[in-house]
Amino acid sequence: FDAAQYAAELRSHWATEGGDASYALLTRAFVLANATTSRIKIVDTLVNFLRVLIEGDPSSILPAVWLATNSISPPYDELELGLGGSSISKALKKIYGLNSQGLKALYDKHGDAGDVAFEAKKRQSFTLVKPKPLRIKGVYQSLKKIATSKGPGSQETKQRIVEKLLQDARGAEESRYIVRTLVQNLRIGAVKTTMLIALARAVLYSKPVGADFEVRPLDQLARLKKDELAEIYNNAEEIVKASYARHPNYNDLVPCLLEIGPTAELLVRCGLCMHIPLRPMLGSITRDLSEMLTKLQGRDFSCEYKYDGQRAQVHCDEQGKVSIFSRHLELMTEKYPDLVSLVPQIRGEGVSSFILEGEVVAVDRESGDLKPFQVLTNRAKKNVELGDIKVNVCLFAFDLMYLNGEPLLDRPFRERRELLRSLFVELPNHFGWVKSMDATSADSEPVLEFFKSAIDVKCEGIMVKLLDNEPSTNTQASNLPKETTTTEQPKEKSTRRKPLLSTYEPDKRLESWLKVKKDYSTSSETLDLIPIAGWHGQGRKAKWWSPILLAVRNPETGSLEAVTKCMSGFTDKFYQSNKEKYAQGSTNVISRPSYVEYHGEPDVWFEPCEVWEMAFADITLSPTYPAAIGLVSDERGLSLRFPRFIKVREDKSIDEATSSDYLALLWRKQMERTGDVGVGEVKG
Ligand code: ATP
Repeated sequence: FDAAQYAAELRSHWATEGGDASYALLTRAFVLANATTSRIKIVDTLVNFLRVLIEGDPSSILPAVWLATNSISPPYDELELGLGGSSISKALKKIYGLNSQGLKALYDKHGDAGDVAFEAKKRQSFTLVKPKPLRIKGVYQSLKKIATSKGPGSQETKQRIVEKLLQDARGAEESRYIVRTLVQNLRIGAVKTTMLIALARAVLYSKPVGADFEVRPLDQLARLKKDELAEIYNNAEEIVKASYARHPNYNDLVPCLLEIGPTAELLVRCGLCMHIPLRPMLGSITRDLSEMLTKLQGRDFSCEYKYDGQRAQVHCDEQGKVSIFSRHLELMTEKYPDLVSLVPQIRGEGVSSFILEGEVVAVDRESGDLKPFQVLTNRAKKNVELGDIKVNVCLFAFDLMYLNGEPLLDRPFRERRELLRSLFVELPNHFGWVKSMDATSADSEPVLEFFKSAIDVKCEGIMVKLLDNEPSTNTQASNLPKETTTTEQPKEKSTRRKPLLSTYEPDKRLESWLKVKKDYSTSSETLDLIPIAGWHGQGRKAKWWSPILLAVRNPETGSLEAVTKCMSGFTDKFYQSNKEKYAQGSTNVISRPSYVEYHGEPDVWFEPCEVWEMAFADITLSPTYPAAIGLVSDERGLSLRFPRFIKVREDKSIDEATSSDYLALLWRKQMERTGDVGVGEVKG
């Protein structure tokens, strides 16, 4: 693979009119990335693309990064394109002169809206005026305009911008990627970390104008040994990834990186700060308690109830301003005015600013009893007035990441927890600590009792967290800043050598946080469902359909009612054969069937022809899935939690798949068993 050749090729596609990099350049990078499944080649393509911009048009780097990550702003900015599929179809018809039938035929053949645009553009016989080339900056600005158009007439404004973009796209590939960008499915096999790695490497090779850091000449880098180069790459990548995990906003990260490079200073200038959510630390799955005890053998740990609610990151600054963020970094301050109003009371003496984390759970205000997750989902998301709140919640705090102007991420968990519990004030049934028990692997009996007690109060299981850092056995000095050394990913090979740390590791799934859930098959029942649709997989699964949409059959109407999406229990081999079976263009892939009940937009519809046996944890009421709607509630259908594929039922035809009334019957049985009534409108 010749990186220099790629760079030269990219340069040749660079229209320099006005100094603005053309969208053709970015499109070329997308095409190259799309043409390979090799992660290394995708990274190299992006690195070379970024280097061309660093050397030629640095002002296009930031918009290019947003476009290449298929986003326009960080999640907490609440900017959304808000374009429906019909708006794209309308524009395709108008700009490329298609009628409804022609467009439908293209959709039936290609499935993907971008591929449809590619074909339509190719077939377009002539254009009256050759448009000016699209620019990276211009395309990004157009997307921002679409997202910020609000109020009367905004739909027309959005439509005009979409049409102008399609009109100005010069080649079929540009059309393809404009449309994929608009439908927010770029499909270039680049995940979030790919861009971070590419950014880190690009500035190792190309020094931005006016930058304040050293860049080794290329010939010097080329002379380094493989492992020396790998270390340089690793250090740079870890710093950029650590910065993004603490401060996930390219608007801040990119200019700072271009100025100071992937140096320790990046974590100071673009690190953890107030009112910008850090990416949460994640738990690693364990099969059961005994696997957890084996993993943490010889260490002190804390077992905590794993509440079934919504994760919340609460920021409060010295002036008392509060922001609350979700697990996926969306701003939800407006959703929880009751939590905001608690802050002055829970903030103990001596606490000026803080970031803490906990699980918001619906509770009975009097008894403190926990309510199921579905109750919480009944809460409105916006404009919630304190006086109108019907679903009461309690915040069960489990971590403290920032206190009085100082990040606590590199303090051991025992210390963070002590600060949390000593400096904040509990308010019964409103704010408190997650229920916990400290233990070691010798305490298997009490741990089992604790686990059972968690299940008894309808928690999902337990989270198990290492309390202290293990002493380091690593004698190799590292030139990474302290915080960053502790954030290294446990790569398969090196995990065993590395001591476990109990520090808070944003965006990492480590062995120091383990989750033990109640058995997947607490429901001994399995269901026989019909696979009806799929989406293009992400990352490693990019080549396959994942997740897959499954349905029950309604014997009354003959329709298939979507019940759940599943991406668990499949082997790679199975994914592969599934992709072959439902290959685009084959007779097993069809256009949207009229007999399927589902409001979402899968990437591909399957000809319903098989039955899969599925395990699940429990059945829930769902605002999204229409299965059994009308049988248990007028507004809601039923869905499954933790669906897991078991096997193909070769012996069953789709007429023998689980029916919607059987699903409703199971749901009622489950309600009797668990006593969970009162969610939604229950019939019969
Ligand atoms: P993940 O977040 O690990 O990708 P997920 O979002 O499906 O997966 P789970 O696998 O169920 O979540 O487990 C982690 C989640 O459990 C946390 O994100 C948090 O919302 C919730 N949780 C409940 N209790 C705790 C606790 N005591 N400590 C940490 N997380 C908890």
